[in-house]
Amino acid sequence: MDLNSSIEKNFRLSPRQKSALDKLGLKTTKDLLFYFPSRYENFSERKNIASLAEGDKTTVFGEVLEASLGKTWKKRMSISEITVGDNTGIIKAVWFHQPYMAKMLNVGDKVALTGKISRNKSGLSISNPNFEKISAYEALGEGSVILPVYSETSGITSRWLRFAIQRILNSLEENIADPIPKEILKKYHLPSLKSSLIFIHKPQKLKDAEAARKRLAFEEIFFIQLARLSQRQEREKHHSLKINFDQEELGKFLSSFPFELTGAQKKVISAVAGDMQKSSPMSRLLEGDVGSGKTAVAIAAVYLAISAGYQVAYMAPTEILAGQHFQSFIEYFSELRLTPKIGLITSSGCQKFPSKVNPSEATKISRAQLLKWVENGEIPILIGTHSLIQDKVKLKNLALVIIDEQHRFGARQRASLVTDKSGDVPHLLSMTATPIPRTLALTIYGDLDLSLLDELPAGRKSPITKIISPEERGTAYAMIREEINKGRQAYIICPRIDEPDPEKEMALLAKSVKEEAKKLKKEIFQEMEIGILHGKMTPQEKEEALLKFKDNKINILVATSVVEVGINVPNATIIIIEGAERFGLAQLHQLRGRVIRSSHQPYCLVFAESKSQKTTERLKALTSAKNGFELAEYDLKIRGAGELGGGKQWGVSDIGMEALKNIKMVEAARTESQKIIAESPDLKKYPLLLAKIANNGKQIHFE
Ligand code: ADP
Ligand code: MG
Repeated sequence: MDLNSSIEKNFRLSPRQKSALDKLGLKTTKDLLFYFPSRYENFSERKNIASLAEGDKTTVFGEVLEASLGKTWKKRMSISEITVGDNTGIIKAVWFHQPYMAKMLNVGDKVALTGKISRNKSGLSISNPNFEKISAYEALGEGSVILPVYSETSGITSRWLRFAIQRILNSLEENIADPIPKEILKKYHLPSLKSSLIFIHKPQKLKDAEAARKRLAFEEIFFIQLARLSQRQEREKHHSLKINFDQEELGKFLSSFPFELTGAQKKVISAVAGDMQKSSPMSRLLEGDVGSGKTAVAIAAVYLAISAGYQVAYMAPTEILAGQHFQSFIEYFSELRLTPKIGLITSSGCQKFPSKVNPSEATKISRAQLLKWVENGEIPILIGTHSLIQDKVKLKNLALVIIDEQHRFGARQRASLVTDKSGDVPHLLSMTATPIPRTLALTIYGDLDLSLLDELPAGRKSPITKIISPEERGTAYAMIREEINKGRQAYIICPRIDEPDPEKEMALLAKSVKEEAKKLKKEIFQEMEIGILHGKMTPQEKEEALLKFKDNKINILVATSVVEVGINVPNATIIIIEGAERFGLAQLHQLRGRVIRSSHQPYCLVFAESKSQKTTERLKALTSAKNGFELAEYDLKIRGAGELGGGKQWGVSDIGMEALKNIKMVEAARTESQKIIAESPDLKKYPLLLAKIANNGKQIHFE
């Protein structure tokens, strides 16, 4: 079987199966081979129903005896219920909010249910179990007692996947090329690629499957690091503009800020200044918790570059943020005798620069004019969104590129912003507020030098975070009112923009920005100005809402998580987050960061719709963790693999995320990739690795 050919070529597929495979992102036969089980059923530990006990976490096998879909009226919640029996007894399985379950199962089906057993007066039950239809033949295990279970989507079953992958495995050549050098496999006791593929799809023992996962996880982390190191190697071959500076002038500029820089800010500024003095390009990542003052560092770097007579491009992920930075750049530079010209360019085509008459005001100019002035060097500072790279903006002498909230950009987007007309590579300062675990940083930012802003500006109070039960809603609103009466402002974050589609049962529970804003105005905060902000508003609408909020003409801003990224309104001191379980911990932390921007006491009130213990525990971490990094480590630890959907945004698969829980493995992967690059910078000695990395670069998606 040719692994590179499409699945269709090797398997007969119904249109439904085809679209299901598409949905899983599986196109080639190789994709299928590398689609790994999400878990295993261990039939050797199989129990019959009579021997189940309260609290068992296990898999129950049996036949569906009854199936029904009911509704409990109180909460308008759907419940699917089935009764399953074997020769020894019966058990009820119940799914909440999953009405389709009852449709998927029919009386007479043989099923395997995995979950936690409970027992009450009416007998045994299992809630929200994972389930799989099985044939009697499979239940016997076909000689093997461990059955791989794949994540399915409607149209493709685990059973089909097992069958198809089995056929691919049978057709594999004796020695499929293993890109990881033999010495490395030996050193870390990792199985070969072929053994790993067999072990992971068809293990005889669970231990084998574990060894295989370890190898495949190592492999992923190793390749990412190798790719990053080789990118860095490439970048360093280029020349960039040397930025010389006068220490005293820089000191004068920095002392014009309305605050004293923190020690951490000073340290990073001198590291950046040192990097930019060299003719090889800076590649630095500035990781600073929300509100740690990254903009001031960026401004210092901008100042150095433009004082040396060069240009700077500053890229932000959203138009809101680009506009906000445009404003704060004008403010930061307003103390200078000669206010530099600053251009703002966005995809919606609003381009401005400060007017000569009144430097704190912006003038609209045509896009063509702006581009011309950028190209001839008259505008030294250009701020924009990704349109900066898409529109082929030409700069005369670009010395520095700053990327704010860089995790929002793709690796390729970052890479494409690299050359100016002369072929020089600009210095690169990337900034992120997303605290990520060290293992992840080492892996995905392997090509960057890391600086931390680990000190908040003096006078900041740590936030008071509370998890609020539904009965306390009134108290929460009273707190908002109290803050607003003191002159402060509030955010209320909702998970959705619109009223939900009534067809979608799950969505019914999530609050929407538009409805919530209306309701609050009508029922709770009649005397207040309430505004809304969400991603579907036009850029003008967004800008207006934000400006009004900044000017304190809006007391309460009801918004989606669009405000998560970088919005800076220091007078806002209280944030309410609805449906908090829908957000990741790091995201909640970011949201909370919106109110830690002044010397006022900040409050963060968190509402959850689910009362599950897992949810509560997770949210509690938000109240106890000292900083974002701690939270990120915690999130990584408590969320099971497979649930770490967040990995995709880093270009790391679920299996790779497992590796990230293991610092030793990540460090080993790093050491080995460093050794290889040192030995063969262009990887010519390792053709398999070279091919793999050329390929991998394409597979890594960010978003
Ligand atoms: P972030 O790191 O989240 O981008 P910002 O750069 O937006 O943070 O800064 C947050 C707020 O803190 C801004 O209002 C800024 O003016 C202020 N700030 C930055 N540095 C200091 C400092 N050293 N002392 C006091 N306030 C500061
Ligand atoms: Mg910022």
